[in-house]
Amino acid sequence: MEIYLDNAATTKPCRESLNAVTECMTRNYGNPSSLHSAGLRAQLVIDNVRKIIAKALTADPAGIYFTSGATESNNLAILGAAASYGKRRPKIITTTVEHASVRNSVKYLEEQGYEIVRIAPDSNGVINHEDIINAADDRTCLVSMMLVNNETGYILPVRRAFYGIKKRFPDCITHCDAVQGFMKIPVKASELNADLISLSAHKIYGGKGAGALYIKKNVRLKNLVFGGSQEKGMRPGTENVPMIAGFGEAVRVLSGSIQKRYDAISRLKSMFCERISKNDGIIINSGDECLPYIINISVPGIRSEIMLHFLEEKEIYVSSGSACSKGAKSGVLSEFRLSDELSDSALRISLSHETTVQELRILAEAIENGMQKLQRKSG
Ligand code: PMP
Repeated sequence: MEIYLDNAATTKPCRESLNAVTECMTRNYGNPSSLHSAGLRAQLVIDNVRKIIAKALTADPAGIYFTSGATESNNLAILGAAASYGKRRPKIITTTVEHASVRNSVKYLEEQGYEIVRIAPDSNGVINHEDIINAADDRTCLVSMMLVNNETGYILPVRRAFYGIKKRFPDCITHCDAVQGFMKIPVKASELNADLISLSAHKIYGGKGAGALYIKKNVRLKNLVFGGSQEKGMRPGTENVPMIAGFGEAVRVLSGSIQKRYDAISRLKSMFCERISKNDGIIINSGDECLPYIINISVPGIRSEIMLHFLEEKEIYVSSGSACSKGAKSGVLSEFRLSDELSDSALRISLSHETTVQELRILAEAIENGMQKLQRKSG
């Protein structure tokens, strides 16, 4: 029996999402830009998903722009916001724990002459919203901050930071990479004070290749891709209708049960942490301030990859860190003040609403078994 616990990397698409994708691949395969009824039907599918996602964000459907995923949304948000102000506002505030798609977008701008201020967590591993606010000034074009860290589940103080930013600098664009929080905790655009929000379908039981960028009304962004008038010219190219349809179904299915699922996952996390922390040496890096869907632990003395492959032999799939870094150290765990020893032995266990108590028991047993076998081997 396969036990899949790498849901922060990607999720298994839900049945409703699969059905919607199949429907668009088999029957509703028109091009939304075509003028005939087959095109119109495809356009209606997209517009309906726009409404579903907007409802989930309590936002205006006209502000939802479909992309190929959150990497593209983050690039568009950051490069597009910077370009819209040009060199009049050459400063960007972000954090040191962002996803590579944000980190590398701001790094590119830094190479172009932008001043980048990267706020790090304090000695307790906490990002202080006042540090973000105090770093901004009237030359700042953008503040970009993720909602939930993909390696530890840490929930960043986005609402408080953006509130303070908007109060002092109303024209400064606020961007939130909400990929790991969307449909797991409530994400309301206006409550977050976010002008831009990045989303991805495949993290919430939709398919790979669809994402969205929410753009608040009157926030001007420069498009990065040039072509036709799809997505009002902001993201030209024929829309990925099947994956967008699946994205909509995934959001629809989760809507209304966010709290219920959160409570169930919290119980699973507590149970697992209680059990696993009985083992001498195991450290839990995702405390109570973290989203319960992601549990990062360290098993000192056993390198992440070694334990990962040991578990894989038992058909248990976890991650050594962020999936995008393909085993390469992202440095984010060190930013959260983990020692090299703890970072090198970190495992990310990420749950889905299908995860069971039994699966986590099997995982705990397998880790304990691995500790005995592997520590002995390396000792
Ligand atoms: N941001 C975060 C926080 C993520 O976890 C990911 C996926 N690892 C992305 C952005 C990129 O999303 P996508 O795979 O849709 O490009």
